[in-house]
Amino acid sequence: MQGKNQLRKYNNQLTNVKAFNPGRKPGFFYSIPPLVCRLFSIRFICSMTRKERYTFVIDYFEKNMPVAETELEFSDPYQLLVAVILSAQCTDKRVNMTTPAIFEKYPTVQSLSKATFEDLLPLVKSISYPNNKTKHLIGMANKVVNQFHGAIPMTVEELVQLPGVGRKTANVITSVVDKQPNMAVDTHVFRVSKRIGLVPQTASTPLAVEKILIKNIPGHLIHKAHHWLILHGRYTCLARTPKCEKCGLQTVCRYFSTLQ
Ligand code: SF4
Repeated sequence: MQGKNQLRKYNNQLTNVKAFNPGRKPGFFYSIPPLVCRLFSIRFICSMTRKERYTFVIDYFEKNMPVAETELEFSDPYQLLVAVILSAQCTDKRVNMTTPAIFEKYPTVQSLSKATFEDLLPLVKSISYPNNKTKHLIGMANKVVNQFHGAIPMTVEELVQLPGVGRKTANVITSVVDKQPNMAVDTHVFRVSKRIGLVPQTASTPLAVEKILIKNIPGHLIHKAHHWLILHGRYTCLARTPKCEKCGLQTVCRYFSTLQ
């Protein structure tokens, strides 16, 4: 609830923000496109350093979104794991409408491990890819019960052994539940980090983006930075029509500089 209030406040602030300035302006030459800088070998004076850009962006989010959390509703690691598996190619809002009935019928991973496909499918059918996700949930629960003694494992290496759990899901679980410095790169994180210029355009895979973000964000902020980038991408830096006019990151955003 605290996170939801915070997000509402953040969105309200955006309507008034022209350009956030934490006290330091980027260099005069920053607005020159990077390609021009490269062509004339003057990149060192006309481009903000990567460290400066990270500092600006982190300062901005710490000030404007001090609480950043997942919008999935859950009350324990089991429920979060179910919700994250269901959220692939689906909105958090839709998942939150679906999970209460699942958790009521299957309150523990042990109870879910005994579910049949026919029992569970009707509760999952309003979600995208219901057949696969139903199989994954039952398979996940069986593996947790049989291989991990009924406790949701809390390392990426163990989690990716579960059906329906890839690296992104494992990163979400470990960072949300355990605040481990793992960065889940979804479509929003991938797009926003490249648009701002936190990550070069040449980073072509989620793993490449993940590695660069992890390297440049302080470890204790990585679990939070994941939500900053997701929420910014979901509500401000939209895929088709980013709301640049309301965005406080204009001053350092590479994409925005190309529009000028
Ligand atoms: S593209 Fe626009 S909305 Fe996205 S971070 Fe840059 S200035 Fe903000």
